[in-house]
Amino acid sequence: MAANRSKDYYATLRVPRNAKADAIRTAYRHMARKLHPDVNPGDKAAEERFKDVQEAYDILSDEEKRGIYDRYGFYSEQARQQAAGGQGHGFGFDGFDFSDLGRQAAGANFGDLFEGMFGGRGRGRGQATRRQGEDLEYEMEIGFDEAIRGTTERLKISRQVPCTPCSGTGNAKGEPPGVCRACGGSGQSQRMAGNMRFSVPCPECGQTGQVRTPCAPCAGEGRALAANTIDVRIPPGTRENARLRLQGKGNAGILGGPAGDLYILVHVGSHPFFERDNFDIRIEVPITPAEAVLGAKIEVPTIDGAALMRIPPATSSGKTFRMRGRGVIDPRSDKRGDQFVRISIVVPKVPDESTKDLMRRYAERNPENPRDSLGGV
Ligand SMILES: [Zn+2]
Ligand SMILES: [Zn+2]
Repeated sequence: MAANRSKDYYATLRVPRNAKADAIRTAYRHMARKLHPDVNPGDKAAEERFKDVQEAYDILSDEEKRGIYDRYGFYSEQARQQAAGGQGHGFGFDGFDFSDLGRQAAGANFGDLFEGMFGGRGRGRGQATRRQGEDLEYEMEIGFDEAIRGTTERLKISRQVPCTPCSGTGNAKGEPPGVCRACGGSGQSQRMAGNMRFSVPCPECGQTGQVRTPCAPCAGEGRALAANTIDVRIPPGTRENARLRLQGKGNAGILGGPAGDLYILVHVGSHPFFERDNFDIRIEVPITPAEAVLGAKIEVPTIDGAALMRIPPATSSGKTFRMRGRGVIDPRSDKRGDQFVRISIVVPKVPDESTKDLMRRYAERNPENPRDSLGGV
């Protein structure tokens, strides 16, 4: 790996250059636990340091690699082979390494760019490469009142979690890695674009230069499907079709990559007489003909309980009144919506004789035709 050239692995693991193997192992475990993507979801800086720590441990935990690193200030598989072959000089710097140049020149990852162009990643031919876990989406139905007041719902899902037997590394226990045949261990493979030759990350070994024996339970992915219980906090004022994001609660990443996110699509159940209209509440309230004619003070239900409302005299069916601030709290503005009350006049089903008499007299005294506005029918 040409990119190893100028890295101080001892500084990365915070151990002295003469540290013994078990001190290196202890330092690595401590830092890997602290920086693991599962502990720091979404923290890119921690993720980068986690990668650095893994790389440093990969070299310093191997006596032969550490020896080469100590001698030359960097390690590559090519260096190891050539050192073993007795050449001992001139290695590692031959060839034009475009991926490294790109990183240094523009800060962009040319290696990834070309990998994308040539379709090297994720073909399943070689080993799994470390990458982020998938996002998951689940639907959930909550009650009308719970949506208004907020609640915590327990959700049972199955998702990918770090594999226990291999601790998420994807490697079978106790199997030392071998050299990748496709790239001879350099981690780079040569590609042509027009008449230019480029180095791109080797798709077979994912740039590591090594082939590892995959962990059987997780097929080398470092993660496995498991049943999980997740407590989902539903904030007050949640609306129908709200999409909640639970960062890092999606599938675990491959080979210790960061976890994806979990999205919850919320459906709000209906209510026998309230209707939600964003942060407003709508309700139809029946009144008697006498209340409609004379006006009245009536009790109407609100989401906080019964409240008094004044019906003015001569109120017709269909008239809508606004009760300010009786709606749902919008958690973003802390303002409450309103309640809209639509009036419907309910006529008694079978009026008795004296009521019929009253109505006849009422009709005589009020001869106006309410259908005049319809063109005198
Ligand atoms: Zn495993
Ligand atoms: Zn390779």
